[in-house]
Amino acid sequence: MRLTDISYIKSQMEAHGVNFKKKFGQNFLTNPMVVERIAENAAEGVLEIGPGLGVLTAELCRYAKKVCAVEIDDTIIPLLKENTAEFDNLTIINNDVLKLDIKELIREQFADCKSVSVCANLPYYITTPVIMALAESGAGFESITVMIQKEVVTRLCSQPGKGDYGAITAALSYYGECHKLFDVSAGNFIPKPKVDSAVMRIDLYDTPPVDCDRDTLMRVIRGAFSQRRKTLVNSLGSEFSHLNKEQITELVTSCGFAADIRGEKLSLEDFAVLANAIKVKG
Ligand code: SAM
Repeated sequence: MRLTDISYIKSQMEAHGVNFKKKFGQNFLTNPMVVERIAENAAEGVLEIGPGLGVLTAELCRYAKKVCAVEIDDTIIPLLKENTAEFDNLTIINNDVLKLDIKELIREQFADCKSVSVCANLPYYITTPVIMALAESGAGFESITVMIQKEVVTRLCSQPGKGDYGAITAALSYYGECHKLFDVSAGNFIPKPKVDSAVMRIDLYDTPPVDCDRDTLMRVIRGAFSQRRKTLVNSLGSEFSHLNKEQITELVTSCGFAADIRGEKLSLEDFAVLANAIKVKG
């Protein structure tokens, strides 16, 4: 695979006068096996975020009916176009993914696709905002497969009561089921990043696994993790300041939880029970 060849990458960039941009999290994949294992998760339509020089893009174009790739760095676009010139099923969009209306983009780009997934080697600096934006978008993705920092994969795939379980884990579990696929060491990229990576897949739900008001649920989760060393009762007050401590204690215990329980012990179902109780209280 030419695009995983380090001397090709360097010479193409040099020929175009383009440098690796740290500020955009540019660490390009150089292992064809990893590229293929990510691309295997393509649906009929694929949204790729951060195509870079196009190593994964090219493989996705082979697997999928249609690929749409969003790249922020305008200096790299001519190289990306050169490297993917043979594919007529690719649309390149030069923009910041966080500035796009993702639902609208998917509607425009994939009207003729029965299923759409996301496949990406994400830049480290915006991992969680991008994943949450994709999950919350309501765009109807079948799955989201991303390579991100290894520790973040551990956190996102964690379970209640485990050390890495956090607000983001609970919030994401409302949208889909997270699975770690495999580790990718730092030596598989140019330039070599300071951290190791892993690939995870989120299988998105058609309907949420719990029945409650989404905004209240997200506020409960945010509140529960706002002060990690405090009990749930003490930390929920930060988000629901109209309730005093006694009212929150009453609410928590009436839902069947101990008054001194900590937020990190609670599952999504538990947070939904609390969200419904808070909604009733108004
Ligand atoms: N897909 C390529 C690969 O695997 O070799 C490049 C991956 S590199 C880790 C991340 C890519 O995301 C870079 O090309 C970078 O310019 C791009 N990027 C960074 N921030 C972005 C943003 N906000 N929106 C779209 N692309 C972004």
